[in-house]
Amino acid sequence: MNTLLLSTSEEDINLAASFIKTGGVVGMPTETVYGLAANALDEKAVAKIFEAKGRPSDNPLIVHISDFEDIEKFGLVNEVPAVAKLLAEKFWPGPLTIIMPKSDNVPEITTGGLDTVAVRLPSDVNARKLIRASGCPLAAPSANISGSPSPTTANHVFSDMNGKIPAIIDGGECQVGLESTVVSVKDDVITVLRPGGITAEDLRSVYSNVEVCDAVLNKLKEGETALSPGMKYKHYSPKAKVILVKSSDKAFYDFINKQNIDETVALCYKEDEDFVKIPAILMGSKEDLEAQAHNLFADLRLIDACENVKTAYVRCPEAEGIGMAVLNRLIRAAGFEVINLDE
Ligand code: AMP
Ligand code: MG
Repeated sequence: MNTLLLSTSEEDINLAASFIKTGGVVGMPTETVYGLAANALDEKAVAKIFEAKGRPSDNPLIVHISDFEDIEKFGLVNEVPAVAKLLAEKFWPGPLTIIMPKSDNVPEITTGGLDTVAVRLPSDVNARKLIRASGCPLAAPSANISGSPSPTTANHVFSDMNGKIPAIIDGGECQVGLESTVVSVKDDVITVLRPGGITAEDLRSVYSNVEVCDAVLNKLKEGETALSPGMKYKHYSPKAKVILVKSSDKAFYDFINKQNIDETVALCYKEDEDFVKIPAILMGSKEDLEAQAHNLFADLRLIDACENVKTAYVRCPEAEGIGMAVLNRLIRAAGFEVINLDE
């Protein structure tokens, strides 16, 4: 199969929609990361997403809609919970995914066998045009091969999916660069299952009862069930080993400058540039958490573009604001391996 790289013209979006209408899978730009989109209500089409990604079948997909009314129009749930309505009013369109009890219309394959469905209304205009032109809700996980860093450009999608899907819409670089915040609403508590572009602080500004699931920054304990099944898998990893380093500036420089210059790369801040004497990938300014989020997946992909690199040491961000989402992805990319030089 040849994979077409399409523009965001009306003609190209209609062509992409025609692939979806006939049960195909298309690479879709969104403001978070690129998605691998298919008709969420068509079991066979959804099965193709799992196959293209190599994704475990118990890891559910997010269902994307173009208008709030789509929830009712496509009968995704029997009733939208009041707290979910409040969140949708405040944060949709945008990078927030809300988990609700599903209706029988949503096939089990889409929800990984769970009795809940994850719904998101993206702000990206081209994503919404594609959903409208397709005439159905689109199930779309990140468009990477399972386990590797999520794609934030059409070229990232092409390198993972070339030959596996008929088309990718090139909508440029994703604005946020990290996947959506995933929340469940139950018993009047909002629980953050995966941090993202909408921060816990943003959520607390509209609803006081917000908790962050333990598994966001900690490894699941033996036998513990993941509330969000995606949390239990190794994720976002380049081929080289990633190790997070918690430290002061000086301790980081002393440590990193002792490493083998041919086999090691540092992921550090713009301010570190003059002090790090081994090859470095700059994640953005230390204070600019948005830039770090925006660049993160492209930076993780860059590690493998550095020849002979076996280990990447990454400076550890603070878990504040969108920093919590950056840290959540980095901890998983590192398989929970963290060195603390300050202890
Ligand atoms: P991705 O498709 O790569 O953006 O990942 C989607 C994330 O949402 C995964 O971590 C899933 O486990 C999570 N998710 C999707 N649907 C549900 C659901 N019904 N309940 C809990 N987590 C969900
Ligand atoms: Mg993903």
